[in-house]
Amino acid sequence: MPLPMTLTEKILARAAGRDHVAPAQNVWVNVDVLMTHDVCGPGTIGIFKKRFGKDAKVWDKEKVVIIPDHYIFTKDVMANRNVDVLREFAKEQDLPYYYDVGGDRYKGVCHIALPEEGHTRPGEVLLGTDSHTCTAGAFGLFATGIGNTDAGFTMGTGKTWLKTPPTMRFVFHGEMPPYLMAKDLILAVIGDIGVDGATYRAMEFDGDGVFALNIEERMTLCNMAIEAGGKNGCIAPDKVTLDYVNARGVKTGSKPYTVFNADVGAQYIYEKVYDVTKLEPVIAKPHSPDNKAFVSELKGTKLDRAYIGSCTGGKLTDFRAAAGVLQGKSVKIDTFVVPATTEVARGLDTELINGISLRNIFLNAGAKIGDASCAACLGGPSDTFGRLNTPISCISTTNRNFPGRMGHKEARVYLASPLTVASSALTGMIEDPRNFLQ
Ligand code: SF4
Repeated sequence: MPLPMTLTEKILARAAGRDHVAPAQNVWVNVDVLMTHDVCGPGTIGIFKKRFGKDAKVWDKEKVVIIPDHYIFTKDVMANRNVDVLREFAKEQDLPYYYDVGGDRYKGVCHIALPEEGHTRPGEVLLGTDSHTCTAGAFGLFATGIGNTDAGFTMGTGKTWLKTPPTMRFVFHGEMPPYLMAKDLILAVIGDIGVDGATYRAMEFDGDGVFALNIEERMTLCNMAIEAGGKNGCIAPDKVTLDYVNARGVKTGSKPYTVFNADVGAQYIYEKVYDVTKLEPVIAKPHSPDNKAFVSELKGTKLDRAYIGSCTGGKLTDFRAAAGVLQGKSVKIDTFVVPATTEVARGLDTELINGISLRNIFLNAGAKIGDASCAACLGGPSDTFGRLNTPISCISTTNRNFPGRMGHKEARVYLASPLTVASSALTGMIEDPRNFLQ
């Protein structure tokens, strides 16, 4: 009888073809999905060709997913060239899952596009050349970011070599108050343990407070595991997960998958329990995601800009929340709205609050709406929508606020939930959403 294992250990044991793996054990694992994008894809392809030959074929074209998303709506020649490289490679390899720019196939931010297009299945190993690949752990799989060299190797072999991480467990109990979102929960965790508090550890989120969240909010929790240094974030699959996976899996042929849960008696290296009814809205001050404060402590801090977008805060749930605050009101500062994907962008037109589309609520409030992509989350070329080109103060639903992350090195970025960002946009100062919820 194998020793009890955590969710992450069970997924890695399956992928390694073993009955059991233990923390710190190095294993070769079979990879189920390899994702890359326009920033790292050309480098990955270059390494793949250098090591496996210029005529080499990827190990399994059904398992390689390429999603241009970062520097898309720009005149920057080098950025556009990166997308050309991806397009040529997808054509040469006859890849079925290449989501090209400029047509109906275009998706937008990879971490939201992956589940929408049916690439996230419980029990699998999903690697991506992007640190926020951990987002997909919300679907009960092992998902982590890797560098171009590792990705080039996986592209040729379908394998990677991993050290099994020990698991930290974060339990959320209680009914979420209407003024809190998953962003508040994960900012609280990162503030408590620090940006290196989970270095090379799995972060498993558990408890009735987590399982009451919809799938997009669970993605927000796992998305920011990397901001605490986590190797991966994960949540055990339940009916909410499987309903989503089964509906979207049709697009990739409804491939079989395995649902794993942690064993009774599994060993956790750390455990922390939160009562969500006692939390209040959280914010991360410049210039680190663990620079935690309660929104109420910073109330009145002057701002120049609000930004609602990215893989962390650019999903339909995020826009529903923000629009609920903004409806019938006007923003006082420049407010940028960027849907993560084209599907989310369509949702801005079909989702209504009091008979008005989310898009019209934002436009009527005076916000500007951009095209689906990473946009200013990573700064990008100087013509990027919403980029901080001057040393201003911005409140944002994104995930990182290191100097220069959203553009100018002296800009000050506050990270917060869509509810807090929308509330702050209304006065041009940091505001507690409890004062604006209708
Ligand atoms: S939205 Fe931001 S964090 Fe997410 S993949 Fe794009 S640049 Fe990275």
